[in-house]
Order: sequence, then structure tokens, then C-alpha cells
Amino acid sequence: MHCPFCNAHDTKVIDSRLVAEGVQVRRRRECLSCSERFTTYEGAELLLPRLIKRDGSRVPFDEEKLRAGMLRALEKRPVSVEQIEESISRIKHRLQATGEREVKSFDVGEMVMRELQRLDEVAYIRFASVYRRFQDLNEFREEIERLEKEPRPKA
Ligand SMILES: [Zn+2]
Repeated sequence: MHCPFCNAHDTKVIDSRLVAEGVQVRRRRECLSCSERFTTYEGAELLLPRLIKRDGSRVPFDEEKLRAGMLRALEKRPVSVEQIEESISRIKHRLQATGEREVKSFDVGEMVMRELQRLDEVAYIRFASVYRRFQDLNEFREEIERLEKEPRPKA
């Protein structure tokens, strides 16, 4: 792999470990010529279903968009990047496991909510309030009450 700093051809792997519940390999590399270090992530590329939006249009699954939405909900919350990546992996895994070529974007939203609920309740409520577009405060309060009654899923 070429060095992203000086473009030299030879870099060596100085550390390698499994991350995101074993679905990615994180490699620390060092350039043999400029000695800069950088990190690569390697994961299997599996086909993800396309998303059917509310208006019936189809769009490709966009992992970056998913990550951005989750990060927005998790802003300033005590959740590590590693935990977020694990959640994203689980969502992708679940999508691939459906075996469907198309899934409703609504269903993906529900998966994200389930993951956020496990990670952080504030983030969950933030996401749910935007995603579900609560009609009024009562509806929002009901959701919070429902959440409080539900047994906490084990991490
Ligand atoms: Zn270099």
C-alpha cells in the first residue's frame, strides 16, 4: 500500500487487530521512507439492499449518511467511536441478513433507533423526535413513557 503522505511504495504493518466485533481489521502502518504512520480499516464488501423512501423512490444505501445521522444524535454524548461503529456494523449485518434487494428506509430508521436506544437514551430521543416527527408534545411524552417502561436491552 502506498504512503498517503509521501506516496512511497513500501509501508509496513506495525499492528493489526480485529475491531467492530470482528468484522473489520484495523491496521497501523508505517511508511518505510518518511516514517509517518497511518491507519487502514479492512472489511468485506457485501451488497446492501437499496432503500425505498417514503415517496417510493429508490436510493442506494449510504453508510456515510447513516453514520452522520447517528453522530448528530450522539453529539456530546458519552459514547465511543468504537461503540458507534459496532452499531453501524450490526445495522448493516441485519440489512444483509434480510436477503432483500430493497428495504424500506423506514425499517432502517427503526434499526437505528433500536441501536441508539442501546447506546444512549438521550441520543435515542433526539433521533426519534426528528425521525418520527412527533405531531405534538403529548405524542413525544408518550414515547418517553413507553421507553421508561420498557426493560433496558442488555448491551
Ligand atoms: Zn511516506
